[in-house]
Amino acid sequence: MTSDHTKYTFGQPRIVRQINLQTVTRQMRKMELFSKIGLARELGISTTTMTKLFAQLEEQGLISRSEVEDTSFGRPKILYQLAPELQVAAIVIDLQETTICFSDLQGSAKPEHMLKLPTGIDVDDLFARIKREFTTLKTRLNAQCRLIGVCIPGLIESQTGQSMLNPNLHWLEGVRPAERISEALSIDTFVMHEERALSRAQLRTPDATSNYISMDFSAGVGMSVVVNGQPLLGSSGYAGEIGHIIMQPGGKQCGCGNRGCLETVASDLVFFSELDLPPAAALELLANRNPRALKIAENVLEWQAKGIAAAINIFNPDRVFIYSRLAQVYPYYIEDLRKEVKRWTIGLLFDNCRIRTTHEGKLTGALLLTIDRLIEKKALNAE
Ligand SMILES: [Zn+2]
Repeated sequence: MTSDHTKYTFGQPRIVRQINLQTVTRQMRKMELFSKIGLARELGISTTTMTKLFAQLEEQGLISRSEVEDTSFGRPKILYQLAPELQVAAIVIDLQETTICFSDLQGSAKPEHMLKLPTGIDVDDLFARIKREFTTLKTRLNAQCRLIGVCIPGLIESQTGQSMLNPNLHWLEGVRPAERISEALSIDTFVMHEERALSRAQLRTPDATSNYISMDFSAGVGMSVVVNGQPLLGSSGYAGEIGHIIMQPGGKQCGCGNRGCLETVASDLVFFSELDLPPAAALELLANRNPRALKIAENVLEWQAKGIAAAINIFNPDRVFIYSRLAQVYPYYIEDLRKEVKRWTIGLLFDNCRIRTTHEGKLTGALLLTIDRLIEKKALNAE
């Protein structure tokens, strides 16, 4: 397996073709226990179709009958649950920190199921430490992991899963992280783009829609665009690199090789580096309303707003989810941001769009994408 948007080339089973498998399994994930009739009613799918789908999912070991029976309507009804023994893991390689996390098919990132290690700057050393720490955690949790999703920044070649351009982790370029991890741990592994993970996490929010954008200002500046429920990938899967549009010709050097990209003026890293402080100390200054920290943060926020406005003008989303650490401590962050975005956006498009901050990060999204992939793989292989 390679990257997160490899197309399935084999035929799909009839029932899976008839209904949206992900719609059903996502609904299942919202409930601890569910019944065929309840789910059919909820999703407007016929009971006959649902019965066939349940049989298929049960055969593939994705769902299992629960001990409990629902007798609330007089007649006993069998309840099901997502197979509790199926586990996946996500490995999120970020600029400073790498996180390993296990989860069942519900996809919650529980602190007791994860560990963090410094990412460092040496590729062989990082993969050796991932192998060691992953094995320790797996043993401690007694987890039977069926699939690992590795989440990385930068451009990923879709066929090979190779990191092609990685402005903030140059040493990952040319590396195929899924291959390395799969070889080291002997577990099926695929690689995904961090912005797709962040964007997938937003489907969990109460007001999720099918036309939205998520924008990430945490390290570089990244974006994922979802149109009619599908991520926009572009011809090579590289779409969304808004961080590398030029905002200041001849400006600061960017990791991509150009100068003055949005990323060089609008990311949280710019705020930290201009204060010349580690993130925690810089954020503390901002929380205490230090005038210099506030001024730098205001400037970064203005650039973020320009990037967001450009995205709204181009894609006409009805939601924009913003991930920035500044939002955690900056007073009135979202109010100030909305005001600025409004200045730079066509009125009709702005009025149609809600801008909000998000705390559902890459890790949650990486787990959810890994679960999606496992379910698809098992269900589609069932033919
Ligand atoms: Zn750039």
